[in-house]
Amino acid sequence: MSMKDVKMKRLCAVILVLLVPVVFFFGNRKESFVSALQGGKNLNSKVDEILKQNEDKELISNEVFQDKFIYLAFQKEDEFTSFFVDVKTGEEKLLFDYIKEDKKEEFSNTVQSLLYLKYPKFIADVLSLEETEKLVQLSNNELVIHYNQNILEPKIEESLYLRINYNEVKDTLDFPVSLDGEYNNENGYDLDKNKKAVALTFDDGPNGARTNKIVDILEQNKAHATFFMVGNRMEAGKETILNVLNKGNEIGSHSYNHKNMKRMKLEDVISEEEQTKEVYYKITGKELLYTRPPYGNITQQIKENLPTIFVNWNMDTEDWLHRNKDHIVQYVMENVTDGDIILMHDSYDSTVEAVEELLPKLYAEGYQVVSISELAQLKGKTLEKNQVYRSIEAN
Ligand code: ZN
Repeated sequence: MSMKDVKMKRLCAVILVLLVPVVFFFGNRKESFVSALQGGKNLNSKVDEILKQNEDKELISNEVFQDKFIYLAFQKEDEFTSFFVDVKTGEEKLLFDYIKEDKKEEFSNTVQSLLYLKYPKFIADVLSLEETEKLVQLSNNELVIHYNQNILEPKIEESLYLRINYNEVKDTLDFPVSLDGEYNNENGYDLDKNKKAVALTFDDGPNGARTNKIVDILEQNKAHATFFMVGNRMEAGKETILNVLNKGNEIGSHSYNHKNMKRMKLEDVISEEEQTKEVYYKITGKELLYTRPPYGNITQQIKENLPTIFVNWNMDTEDWLHRNKDHIVQYVMENVTDGDIILMHDSYDSTVEAVEELLPKLYAEGYQVVSISELAQLKGKTLEKNQVYRSIEAN
C-alpha cells in the first residue's frame, strides 16, 4: 500500500464505498477484494475513530510506514500523543509491536542508556519507568520520546524528551527507516549557551572519601566542578586527584601550605606556587592554570607578578562556619544568579550532603553546573593571567 497521508487514505475510503455495491453485486468476490485492500474497512474506521477522538488537537503527522502501520501524531500546546494502526488488521497498536520480537529488550536497553546519557540520574530514574507508548514521535531520521513534565520532583521547567537516531535502534525496528550518515546523541554534559550556568568550586582538598563522594554526585547530575587543592596534600591524595580529573572536573592551585599570601614575601609566594605546580605535574602530567589564594587574599604586587589566573568567588556559602546542609542549600537557591562562582569546601560531610541536594535543584531551575573553564567557554570569555575573577558573565 502506497498511501502518503490521510487524504490518500480517505480517497481510498471513497473508492471502497463506491466499489462496495459492485462487490456486493458480484457476491462471493467481496472477501478477496477486502483482503486485497488489507486492513480495509477496519483500518479506515480505526483511523477515523482516532481522528475524531483527537479533533481538538492539531494533527502534526500522518504517515504510512510501508505495509506495516499508519502513524498519526497530535499536539495540543505542549501535550503530544501518537497512534499506530496496523495496515493489515486495522487494529490500534503500539510502537513496541513493531520492534522485532527478539530485539525488544535490546531496544529498551538502548532507550534506557540514552536516557542516562542525556539526563541527570534523578530524572532518568523516573523517566525510565514511565509509560511512553503514546508519546512517540517518528520523524525522518529519528524517533523522539516525549515525557510528561509533571512527574518530577523538583519540578523541571524545560520540556523532557529523548531523541533517538534510527542508527541507534536500526537492528531492532520491524519497519524501514532512513539512516543518517553522521549523528550525535544528546549528552547531558554538552554545554548550552542558552542556559544559565554557575561554577561550583571546592577548596582545601584533596580530601579522600569526601572529595570522591562529591565527584560521584557531580557525575550523577551531569555536572562538573573545579577543585582548588593544597600542594602539600597532593602526594597523599594522588588517587583522588586522578579520579577528579577522570570524571571531567578541573583542578586549580590553593597554594602549597595554605598560608595567607598577604603576609608572605613575593619570592616565597612564587617559589611555593612553583612547588605546587611541580608536584601536580608529577602526578597528572598537566599544568595548573588557576590559583585560588587562601582566604582569597592577595596583594597588588602578587597579582602582577605571580604568573597565574586568579579565581576567587562571588558566592560564599560559609559551609566551613555553619556546617549545616540546609543553610547551604537555602543560601545558594535564594541567591544564585547566572555566572556565579560558588565557594565550598570538600572537607565537611554537611557540604557533601548539601551538594547532593543542591544539584537537582539547580538543574530544575535551569542551571548548568560547570567548571571554571567551562563557565568561561559558555560566557565567551578568555581568562587572563594576572587577573582576578569573582564571577564570569557574558559581555
Ligand atoms: Zn582554603
